[in-house]
Amino acid sequence: MGLSFFNTLSRTVQEFAPLDPAGKKVGMYCCGPTVYDSAHIGNWRTFVFADLVRRYLEFKGYEVKHVMNITDVEDKIIKRVRETRTTLREFTSQYEAAFLDDLKALGCLEPHVKPRATEYITEIISLIELLIARGIAYKASDGSVYFSIEKYRGCGCNYGQLVNLNFDEMRVGERVASDEYDKESLADFALWKAYVPEDGEVTWDSPWGKGRPGWHIECSAMSMKVLGESFDLHLGGEDLKFPHHEDEIAQSEGATGKPFVKYWLHGAFLLVEGKKMSKSLGNYFTLRDLLAKGFTGREVRYLLLSAHYRGTFNFTIDGLAGARAALARIDECVGKLRELGAPASGPAQSELVTRFTTALDDDLNISAAWAAIFDWVSETNKRLASNSLTLAEAAATLAAWEQVNSVLGIGCVAEAEAPAEIVALLEARQAARKAKDFKRSDEIRDELKAKGWVIEDTPKGPKLKKL
Ligand code: AMP
Ligand code: ZN
Repeated sequence: MGLSFFNTLSRTVQEFAPLDPAGKKVGMYCCGPTVYDSAHIGNWRTFVFADLVRRYLEFKGYEVKHVMNITDVEDKIIKRVRETRTTLREFTSQYEAAFLDDLKALGCLEPHVKPRATEYITEIISLIELLIARGIAYKASDGSVYFSIEKYRGCGCNYGQLVNLNFDEMRVGERVASDEYDKESLADFALWKAYVPEDGEVTWDSPWGKGRPGWHIECSAMSMKVLGESFDLHLGGEDLKFPHHEDEIAQSEGATGKPFVKYWLHGAFLLVEGKKMSKSLGNYFTLRDLLAKGFTGREVRYLLLSAHYRGTFNFTIDGLAGARAALARIDECVGKLRELGAPASGPAQSELVTRFTTALDDDLNISAAWAAIFDWVSETNKRLASNSLTLAEAAATLAAWEQVNSVLGIGCVAEAEAPAEIVALLEARQAARKAKDFKRSDEIRDELKAKGWVIEDTPKGPKLKKL
């Protein structure tokens, strides 16, 4: 089997075959951030997972159109706009900007299209009109518009494609106004929410009067506008399966009569020190919190990529320290290969690339992929230590690393820039050695060590390395 993913829709691992008859173009939508606060590392686990999917598809030669929406109007946002007495745009733009900065710091490729819900109100209204025309949506007495689950199912459509639902418990026509509800509160959900004074300035005109869209319809409208009525991949965290994604399917398929998405991929939750992340427990981390503790975006990325996307992942600060050590091993190996002066070009060493792709083809089996990488590091270190690597072999193995890294996106840090004082000490040590003053040269070495630097003597001369 080639590339395969666990599809929540079929509950099985399925071979990936894009809808494009030429088998080249892939449309991928990942539900983006709700910009009412800073994204936490749980959110980041999902976005880094989406970045991995996109990078791996590109590595496999697909032409990916990666869409990630910005949810810039929904219940929580409106509440915060009211509390902070700002305008909607003023309020959301600060969190949107911070999100995009973090995205970069984590080495994620920027999605090709980042639609904002507030810029798709016309499309949202048209979609609701279509659902009303098809008899699947109705206007309630307060001016809000609801999706009728009974009418949808009456058309032979299947509500409950991603999760199993108990319709016996459902009271027909019962409505839920909030965007977030659980499976037990199964009910008709809001597509358009009639204006209430608490909405303040956040309102648009519509055929049903003033109001604003529900969260679920936003994603149906944006994804279909940018990627078409049917597209390949839809991603998000596991909490979005119900109601958000189930409702997206119902709205989209109810309006078009066509299958909405071929493969649904859901990432499992991130826990912190074994517990659910929450502000009250004080175990709530944003990327900035971790950067302030001295960790790098690259270390956080490595940690988030270290476990399979479908298993819950327990985040710990010790885990981040482990990520630092693992990256240092890789950096050292790649650094030594680079020092040999071999270009990372020409044919790649096939064993690493073959093991890596076999692992990721299998529903992104990242643990097997890391095992391949660390075996490669050990083997390369052995060959480097015994001086048995030819220049051509070094070039091939570096080329293999570059290929693998185009998927992982963890890069390889350049030598840390040494401050002038440290460089001056290095020069003094060189002068002492030249003068055969080995006592002085050793003293300087110790002094450097005390300041956190070591000197490595390489075939290309001495190099400064941070401890
Ligand atoms: P939100 O900004 O709340 O809409 O969430 C953005 C994305 O983060 C969604 O795909 C969520 O499913 C995902 N998400 C939220 N919390 C977590 C968590 N603890 N672990 C993994 N993903 C999460
Ligand atoms: Zn969404």
